[in-house]
Amino acid sequence: MSDRLTSGVPTDEDLQFEETLRPRRLSDFIGQERVREKLSLYVRAAKERGEALDHVLFYGPPGLGKTTLAHIIAQEMGADLQITSGPILERPGDLAGHLTNLTRGDVLFVDEVHRLSHVVEEYLYPAMEDFRIDIMLDKGPRARSVRINLEPFTLVGATTRAGMITRPMRERFGIAERLDFYSAEELTQVVVRSARILGVSLTPQGAFEVARRSRGTPRVANRLLRRVRDFAQVKGDGTITREIADQSLDLEGVDHLGLDDMDKRILLTLIDKFRGRPVGLNTLAVAVGEEAGTIEEVYEPFLIMQGLLERTPRGRLATELASSHLMRERPRADELSLFS
Ligand code: ADP
Repeated sequence: MSDRLTSGVPTDEDLQFEETLRPRRLSDFIGQERVREKLSLYVRAAKERGEALDHVLFYGPPGLGKTTLAHIIAQEMGADLQITSGPILERPGDLAGHLTNLTRGDVLFVDEVHRLSHVVEEYLYPAMEDFRIDIMLDKGPRARSVRINLEPFTLVGATTRAGMITRPMRERFGIAERLDFYSAEELTQVVVRSARILGVSLTPQGAFEVARRSRGTPRVANRLLRRVRDFAQVKGDGTITREIADQSLDLEGVDHLGLDDMDKRILLTLIDKFRGRPVGLNTLAVAVGEEAGTIEEVYEPFLIMQGLLERTPRGRLATELASSHLMRERPRADELSLFS
């Protein structure tokens, strides 16, 4: 199903390959020019001063390189990286375990930082600000807390839902960068690089065909590359040409623009159910069965970038381009049980 193939959310197979395919240095990281330039400057300045880099927040849809950049920051700083995530850190003690293990300049990566519980988040504030935490010893009447000084460290937080980060949390990140969807040209470079690492042969047109169907997302590009590689091996001579990529992705039901099922559901709802009238975000969310914030922060940016959706003062509208694109892809779009 194209949903699984074009969604930015990682599958187990992705996670297996990601270690091999992840760029290690800032110079290997493709696209996101502005973010890269700034990070390179900040890292250099922090290193020259012999300090830990300021805390960094990366936000944007899944699969665009937030985790990769956390690895790269640690690497460029010559520091170690510890990885955890908002939902895993259930109690302040879980966080304290990580924090007390960090040595000077290390990086603590907290994925899904918007899902930290309130207590853990509050516990993090003094750690981020003054590099200190209080640890409770004993329970009941004998309970007392001791203050522990931490080594200066860098917290790198990642979130797909910037709107859910509380203001005090956000203010504690000195650097906050949004990652945007990649152009087909940038994704072509991602595909060529990954093919080289995996030892797959492909033509420039083959790489471009995979890239333009990847929903602006490197994780999806790497995933489609693996599927097309299998097809090329069995149906062709192993080389990924434009024809091979095209046939293989058609067979997999991957949309020509890389739209996933939720993208199509959103557009078809606007076109068919609301008959082209502007629709408010909350109404749209109920109609497609997804959270309003996720539609706004994860799905809409891509649809708007592709010129398929417009935000108007009166509500969301699907564009003419969306109608004509879905008309062409209609047989697949019909497979969605939209109004069930
Ligand atoms: P996120 O944390 O934003 O969900 P990741 O950093 O895990 O995304 O990226 C997913 C995969 O996509 C990585 O394993 C990496 O192989 C690839 N990737 C992401 N960004 C880039 C990039 N700029 N250049 C090359 N590959 C990338």
